[in-house]
Amino acid sequence: MSFCTREIHLAARPAGAPGAEHFTLTEVRLPELAEGQVLVRNTWMSVDPYMRGRMDDAPSYIPPFELGKPLEGSAVGEVVASRSADVPVGATVSHFLGWREHSVVDAAGAVVVDTSRLPASTYLGPLGTTGLTAYLALTDIAPVREGDTVYVSAAAGAVGSVAGQIARRLGAGRVIGSAGGPAKTALLMEEFGYDAAVDHRLGDLPGRLAAAAPEGIDVYLDSVGGDHLRAALEAMNQRGRVALVGAVSGYNDAEPAPGPDLYRAATKELSLRGMIVGHHLDRFPEFLGKAVPWLLDGSLRTRETVYEGLDRAPEALRGVLQGANTGKMLVRL
Ligand code: NAP
Repeated sequence: MSFCTREIHLAARPAGAPGAEHFTLTEVRLPELAEGQVLVRNTWMSVDPYMRGRMDDAPSYIPPFELGKPLEGSAVGEVVASRSADVPVGATVSHFLGWREHSVVDAAGAVVVDTSRLPASTYLGPLGTTGLTAYLALTDIAPVREGDTVYVSAAAGAVGSVAGQIARRLGAGRVIGSAGGPAKTALLMEEFGYDAAVDHRLGDLPGRLAAAAPEGIDVYLDSVGGDHLRAALEAMNQRGRVALVGAVSGYNDAEPAPGPDLYRAATKELSLRGMIVGHHLDRFPEFLGKAVPWLLDGSLRTRETVYEGLDRAPEALRGVLQGANTGKMLVRL
């Protein structure tokens, strides 16, 4: 029994911000299931800033999307047909073949998730690589120590909204976040447990950061790069720790912007470490052992921004690169 589904394909590679012309919504006939495969009706797909980098034909830690082929990324859905004893019909699974309404997935690439206590979309946000990124950044890459002042950029986003709360649990004395606009900065303090919030849209980031962290910063989780990394390095204390998690401010740049003065990192004896969450997936059990109870007792607070329907997925990707989201950007399929 084969049938048709809809997928988003890469139509052209953007120079600068992606537009509607870079995507096509395409109807395709799915192949018959092979032994060991399952058919998933996707219910949610994740929209992540790194996906913009995969639209370029440039070498990176993950291959570019192919022209004329579907995009991919994390998704969850319900198994509607199965040729695997391990993954039965009716199971909810997370997998990596998003950007389509149905996916044919090898059972080995599908993780059965428990939706009896927490909604399926949680596995793309706080219980997905989003949450794991925040946790690893602050435990391994730039470990938080008791009493530290921790600064998180893109703090109202998916990683940042979780990171501030994890920093607090790890013993941070003061947690500062930056976000764009008054609604997001208010949310940082009212909902996500930040002590102080900096609105980067108001300009003078170094001055605002100095006012929010008069004693300096010990740990910086950098999701933005550019002006944010520059300002944070200025404010870092001796032997501070920086987790280089992302640089979203430059993802749409056609030409590289002048970089931060990384000489600061040398003169302050800083440790700057990058990270790719996909290289630390063995840490999921440890992280879930902590994060599931936090979500169940309500102490870890999260938000979702939801766009409806696969047709709106390109708009969601454009939006996540420009701050249209609070918390995790998702598409409900
Ligand atoms: P997100 O924070 O939910 O969304 C991106 C946010 O970036 C936007 O909402 C916007 O928030 C902010 N932003 C965009 N342009 C900006 C600019 N020029 N200056 C300041 N802020 C800007 O996305 P996410 O999924 O949680 O990812 C956050 C970062 O972590 C990204 O850089 C991503 O690539 C990275 N990441 C890395 C790994 C890894 O393995 N290393 C894993 C996951 C995520 P405002 O409205 O507040 O500006």
